[in-house]
Amino acid sequence: MNKLRQRALRAGLPLALLLATGCPDVRRGAQISSPDRSQTPAYLSEALGPDSFRWTGRTTSGVEQVNLYIEVDDVNVPPSFDQEAWKAIVPKAREIWKAAINELTGVHIDSWTRWRSKERFDSNRTVVHIGFEERSDSSWAGHTAVSSLAKQVNDVNITIAMRRPTTDELFSQEQLLMITLHELGHALGIAGINGATGHSSNDLDVMYWSGYWASLSGGDAKSIRALYSRLPTYTRRNQ
Ligand SMILES: [Zn+2]
Repeated sequence: MNKLRQRALRAGLPLALLLATGCPDVRRGAQISSPDRSQTPAYLSEALGPDSFRWTGRTTSGVEQVNLYIEVDDVNVPPSFDQEAWKAIVPKAREIWKAAINELTGVHIDSWTRWRSKERFDSNRTVVHIGFEERSDSSWAGHTAVSSLAKQVNDVNITIAMRRPTTDELFSQEQLLMITLHELGHALGIAGINGATGHSSNDLDVMYWSGYWASLSGGDAKSIRALYSRLPTYTRRNQ
């Protein structure tokens, strides 16, 4: 975010923060009972206002090809974490949303995740940047910020806290997956831009404002498909 702001300032561009959502906390352990989450209703109309955003791409032979580039900071991982398991978190969350979107006939979403050291920053390709922060002063478990120039989305910055707000306890890898899945939902467009909530009011959905799950509910899948079935008011087309 700061780098973007600096670049925009240098170029004299009015880079606006379209949305910044702080998502409070994630559940502590596995659910004792497993409710049926497959039948929850779509919640897009309550999560979004009149404006919406999603990534768009070029349409060939009736299929819109959307390319999504995700870059993950790999500099802040605590040594106590299993590095390989940690590296699987973002691709796992990415694949869950991608599978739901790709059930649409008219849209095909492809995405790539790569790791970066502090020095590199490929602003031409990167559209979603994810950083894990080991901090104890945050009031949220995850945070997503969408920045735009006019109606053109510049990029999305996600920050995942590695410690639970207030208690300082390190999140488990499953909890980090839950938080990442929820924040990626915002990054894909279930985002409260221009004053909308960006959240579902049903606690069985991943996009409920707190709690989260490691898999999509029926409502999550229906909502993301509804979003990618229509044209947004804010976008960035990725080639
Ligand atoms: Zn949220």
